[in-house]
Amino acid sequence: MRKRIVAGNWKMNTNIEQAVRLAQDIKAQYDNLAVDVVLCPPFTNLYAVHRVIQGTPIWLGAQDLYWEENGAYTGQVSAGMLTAVGCQSVIIGHSERRQFFGETDVSVNKKIKKALEYKLTPIVCVGETLEEREAAETETVVEKQMKGALSGLSAADAAKLVIAYEPVWAIGTGKVATPEQAQVVHRFIRTFLAELYSRELADAIRIQYGGSMKPENAAELLAQPDIDGGLIGGASLKADSFLRIVNA
Ligand code: PEP
Repeated sequence: MRKRIVAGNWKMNTNIEQAVRLAQDIKAQYDNLAVDVVLCPPFTNLYAVHRVIQGTPIWLGAQDLYWEENGAYTGQVSAGMLTAVGCQSVIIGHSERRQFFGETDVSVNKKIKKALEYKLTPIVCVGETLEEREAAETETVVEKQMKGALSGLSAADAAKLVIAYEPVWAIGTGKVATPEQAQVVHRFIRTFLAELYSRELADAIRIQYGGSMKPENAAELLAQPDIDGGLIGGASLKADSFLRIVNA
């Protein structure tokens, strides 16, 4: 039985005070230990949020990392820096990074390897654009992203990943994939993992859905057999809506 995992991607939102308050509100009301919860504030608020949630089961996650150890990489943040501020997890390959910041399958793969080296749990995002869906290319695109992400990864390492299926057309748009549309792609990803590694690994790996998940639609999505949680953007910025998803 896969344990559910719900992560809040706060994106470029919250100042320190707001981040601390949001983390405090989530900590005060989170009592559903059957679900793993990850909070992913902006880099500048990681340490402050760490101070709030340390000693609780809530994980701290970053929204990206860079694969080098240190050096002349202006603006970048390394895996070691993330573990030093208390991170246990990191989002890699979010579609906004692919779309606006030149993230590729190759850079995603390098980031995953570095995150694993530092024992950070990567939340690896894959998903198609609207044009790709309309051209019936969803599976081709997702398979290419999965192959790129997993290139050179042993089964033991692949087993440590969380995958987030995030149809790009559903992110921040209010358009949500129907539970059936999401389930089809989640099943496709699991079958792909079974073929690449093993059925056992595929059955154990957690696959989140992301894309306008809200308290109103979460239960239906999470009732699908291959949907093991959510990566939540907008609805993670209020403790109440985030926890209603966790409890769904
Ligand atoms: C996301 O950014 O990963 C996301 C799913 O955003 P939203 O929930 O706002 O669509």
